[in-house]
This record gives sequence, structure tokens and C-alpha cells, in this order.
Amino acid sequence: MARPFASSADLGEKQQSLEVLAEGVYALTAEGDPNVGAIEGEDFLVCFEALATPVAAREWLARLREHTDKPIRYLVLSHYHAVRVLGASAFGAEVIVTHEKTRELIAERGEQDWASEYARMPRLFKEPASIPGLTWPTATFSDRFTIDLGGGRGDLVLRYCGRGHTEGDLVAWLPRQRIMFAGDLVESQAALYTGDAFHRDWSSATLDRVAAFGARTLVGGRGVVARGERGVAAAIAQTRDFLAVMLREVGAAGTLEEAFRRTHGALAPQYGSWPIFEHCLPFNVSRLWDELHGVERPRIWTAERDREVWDRLQR
Ligand SMILES: [Zn+2]
Repeated sequence: MARPFASSADLGEKQQSLEVLAEGVYALTAEGDPNVGAIEGEDFLVCFEALATPVAAREWLARLREHTDKPIRYLVLSHYHAVRVLGASAFGAEVIVTHEKTRELIAERGEQDWASEYARMPRLFKEPASIPGLTWPTATFSDRFTIDLGGGRGDLVLRYCGRGHTEGDLVAWLPRQRIMFAGDLVESQAALYTGDAFHRDWSSATLDRVAAFGARTLVGGRGVVARGERGVAAAIAQTRDFLAVMLREVGAAGTLEEAFRRTHGALAPQYGSWPIFEHCLPFNVSRLWDELHGVERPRIWTAERDREVWDRLQR
């Protein structure tokens, strides 16, 4: 029997865990579903990531409101993917911040990405009719954006580390607490999605820059919170290894089908049981095949192209 498309047959609710990482610093993880976070300023909140729909976001905000009733001034979005941004309207944030490339990507491919991700992962789109439209940032930056948290709480620093999971990923860094929200640039015991990635940059200079912060706590895009110097190093190493294996196997293959078989065979023993591994791999291999054959920027995924690649590879 054919394997069900992407995560279309994954309908089981995941257990969400709200963790207080330091005073006023929150992470919500969900067994491999997209993670979100929040940071308290003196008299305002910064929220990190918006989930796939306003209804899904409101459930997260209801949990956050058990800890703080401060108004949301900033909503920070790590990159343009639909499951991270389309819930933004629920936050009522004064300012929505992304990297400048993320704004360009939303303009260029936001509509197609929405349709693609909805078909791939329908469970994440709780009440999809609640989405009012694409999410547009109201503030962007190229290298660094600093938010003074006030009241002697220090800064929250948003940084661009180079091309990686997408062309415009940012990380959010709390220097005082040495806590990082890394978006999908780092996964911790969850498979990587690399369908819009720049594998060579990501696996080298970009992850070097992420590692150089010296985080002691790291919230990746999916999976558990990485804790302690060793835990953070392990999450970054896992991300780098996944990419290195892909680069090695796809680089050694003569056809796209062979690239998929080789990559699957090499990654599955270690990563095959992790969330969204089977879902992501055809899209990942397709993009890396392009990258290694001179296609500089990722081709736009549409619902139709998703099916074509899936039917060709994931049988
Ligand atoms: Zn993503």
C-alpha cells in the first residue's frame, strides 16, 4: 500500500508542555510539533513564533496567561513557514518582527507555502478558516535587532546567522540567561525539514555562528528543550550530522531516486523514528539535489509539486 502523503494521516494530538526556562522565559514544546516561546519584559511580552492558525495560537496564549497578563508588544517570527506564522493575528502584537528576507519570501511564495503546508500537515491547522490571510511583518532587519526588556532585565537580541533552514532565519538570544530560541535552524531529537534550505551554508558557517553564542539552554524549532552546555552542543551536532549525511549521500548519487534511497538508508537507523522523518525526506532530498546541481534558490513548493515529488520518491 502507498504510504500516506506527508503527515496527512498523522491525526493524533500531541502532548504540550509549558516549561519555565528562567524567570519570565517560557517555552511550549509538543512532542515534535512546532515549538513556541515567550519572554517577559518589564511591562510587556515578546512572543516567539505564532503557530499555524489563530485558534491554535489562542490555546497557547491561554496557557501563557496562567503565568502573566502583560500585553504583547512584539511577535517575533523566526522564518516564513506557514505553521510558524499564520496564527499571528491572535497575538494582537504592536510589532511583528522578521528578518528582511522573510518579508521577501512571504511576498514571493507565502501563498503557495500556505497551501503546501496545509496539505502536508492538516492537523496543525486548527480551524483553518480562522486565518485572516498572510502574515506581514511590521519591522524587519538585516543583521541585528535589539529589544530592551526594561527594568534591568537586559536585552533580547535577534540575530541573522546566514542562510540555513530558509534564506531568512533569525535566532532570539537572551545574553544574560544564555537562552536561545533557534527556530528551525536547530532541532533537538526531531528530524530536519530542509526543503527550502541552503544545506552547505547551514551545515558550516551558519551553525558555527549559532554555536558561537555559547547558549546554555536552547529551544529548537521542534523537539525537546536542550539543556546545559552538553545538551546544546548535542542538538547542534545532531542538526549538523543530519545535514552532513544528506550532503554525502545525495552528492554520491547519480539519480534523484538513488539519492533518496541512499539518504534514507543512511539516516534511518539513527533518525528514522523521530518526528516527521518520513514526511520530510522526499522534499529534503529534492531540494538538496537541486542545490548540488546549480539551482541557487529553492524552487517554490506548491501542493501539486509536493504530490509529484512524493509519488516519485516516497513509495
Ligand atoms: Zn520551517
